[in-house]
Amino acid sequence: MSRIWNFSAGPAALPQAVLERARDEMLDFHGTGMSVMEMSHRGKPFMEVAEKAEADLRKLMGIPDDYAVLFLQGGATGQFSAIPMNLQPGGQPMDYIDTGAWSGKAIKEAQKVGPVNIVASSQAEGYASIPERSTWKLDPNAAYVHYTPNETIGGVEFHEVPDVGDKPLVADMSSTILSRPIDVSKFGVIYAGAQKNIGPAGVTVVIVRKDLLEREKGQVPAVLDWKLQADNDSMYNTPPTFGWYFAGLVFEWLLEQGGLEKMAEINQRKADKLYRFIDNSAFYRNPVEPSARSWMNVPFILADDSLDGPFLKEADAAGLSSLKGHRSVGGMRASIYNAVPEEAVDALIEFMADFEERHA
Ligand code: PMP
Repeated sequence: MSRIWNFSAGPAALPQAVLERARDEMLDFHGTGMSVMEMSHRGKPFMEVAEKAEADLRKLMGIPDDYAVLFLQGGATGQFSAIPMNLQPGGQPMDYIDTGAWSGKAIKEAQKVGPVNIVASSQAEGYASIPERSTWKLDPNAAYVHYTPNETIGGVEFHEVPDVGDKPLVADMSSTILSRPIDVSKFGVIYAGAQKNIGPAGVTVVIVRKDLLEREKGQVPAVLDWKLQADNDSMYNTPPTFGWYFAGLVFEWLLEQGGLEKMAEINQRKADKLYRFIDNSAFYRNPVEPSARSWMNVPFILADDSLDGPFLKEADAAGLSSLKGHRSVGGMRASIYNAVPEEAVDALIEFMADFEERHA
């Protein structure tokens, strides 16, 4: 068996130890004679899996008791619709910060529900920076403020939680959740698709302050209704059981690694060395303003784009996979989530240096 270094943006690399454990438990989960995929979500074995996963996530992230944790289907994209439906009773404006492709998609869904106020946008700067907080035009009547802490495609990240006063702050953490400790109490809602730092695609984690579940709202489809799902322990309908189980294994693994403080230390070191290498080269370039560079997604371009094809082909041959940038922006992108070890980043840098030497 040979595993390669996988820099995919999502679905992304998963910890090998977790994959091995899932393999070992696949055919006979804890003496039940069946896999987790084959058992009722209401039976004792799965209920224990579900409860442990939630407890471990609460421990990892320090989620206070006045927050509900939901494990849902529908991806972060489903939540783009759920957010305005659950938080806006009708007619109220909703504040959105536009920092790239994913905030753009969130805005598009919210606009189907009600009026969206674009608080600030970095579009004119090619989405290569975060708009200065002093320029933001928050609407005093807004139901909430939404932002995308990490833009997976642009590789732009907020390194501080913005202060939006007493408005509920809603954060799409799909590509940054669990990469470092955060203060959950600063947020009204945190949501994330699983397929980067949590587990396989198919699970969506929603962390919502409980008072927001009581907000007046319009007609919300049952699967997107946070209150209904919270009242039913995320089991109003069949939850994504295998993904929930697998996420639980990833949470256990993270706790074993030393938790999010340890992950932050490793992630920052991985990102720093890759950006340092890129900045010291005239051959590669990262377009993002240094203070807004993502720890998780590092886009870079080659000085001569006719070398993109050979770069990707040779990288693949060297065991470095999925470095092609998003089809909307081109170039390259290395996604270096929790499960991508420092050794992989070292191998990438070594390859990039060697490629530069041969082609510059
Ligand atoms: N938000 C961000 C920041 C993302 O990176 C992605 C997926 N790449 C999404 C939302 C959409 O997630 P999903 O495909 O789970 O709907």
